[in-house]
Amino acid sequence: MSTQIALWVLVEYIKEPRLSLEQIAARLREQHNVAVVPESIERFFQDHDLKKDAPAIQLNTLATLRSYQEQLARESSPAALFAHPPTVPFRPAQSDCPGCQAPLQVYKTQRRTVLTLSLGRFTAQETLLHCGHCANDTLYGAESLSQLLPSGCTYGYDVLVFVGRALFLRHRPTEEIIEELRARQVQLSPSEVGYLGRKFVAYLALAHRQSAPGLQQAMRAQGGYILDLDGTTGGGGPMLMSSLDSLSEIVPGNVRRSGNGCASTA
Ligand SMILES: [Zn+2]
Repeated sequence: MSTQIALWVLVEYIKEPRLSLEQIAARLREQHNVAVVPESIERFFQDHDLKKDAPAIQLNTLATLRSYQEQLARESSPAALFAHPPTVPFRPAQSDCPGCQAPLQVYKTQRRTVLTLSLGRFTAQETLLHCGHCANDTLYGAESLSQLLPSGCTYGYDVLVFVGRALFLRHRPTEEIIEELRARQVQLSPSEVGYLGRKFVAYLALAHRQSAPGLQQAMRAQGGYILDLDGTTGGGGPMLMSSLDSLSEIVPGNVRRSGNGCASTA
């Protein structure tokens, strides 16, 4: 049974657990124009230990649905569709010079291999534009490419976020993260996982700093804040002071104090 048909079977069963195997087969024929014999559906239920006569939907039914959804997404993702990485052209949206309104001209095209979770591995061919008519010396790159990944990088923001969340929120070991990403057609070495993890922290700190006005506004809107301060220190080493607004559970900032009284914030 294909992944798609298995998913349709599961969906029909979850929507109406009382349907017989024959009725599920009939639904698939009517709604999706596919012929599946009830015996195949019965075998599918047995293979996945799904209980057709259970009084309510079982946990493993939902887990099976989830795993088939992920499998279908993997099978139909661009990463799995191409035997060789495709070349994708990128051009800036800006077509005229904002200074003199002359049409921008091609400065150069550059190619680089790129890896993202959403699109897999591909070669990005980016056209850079410039104005040859006035003193405006800006180089215009493709915004759609810079939204996918930082300039000069190989890995997309989605890979960066996946690694950061796996390391710091799910506390996965490096080898497990490599396996999880390999299943999504992204190959990383242990040192690359470490590098992307550090980069994630740096980007997170920048995003947090840039969001300070919005965080202040949100805290003010709920009538102020209750600030908890706490610090950790190991022997004579530097102390990490953390602040927490216990109303919103936002951490406004951390301060590291070294032994000589100097402080740095993050
Ligand atoms: Zn110009």
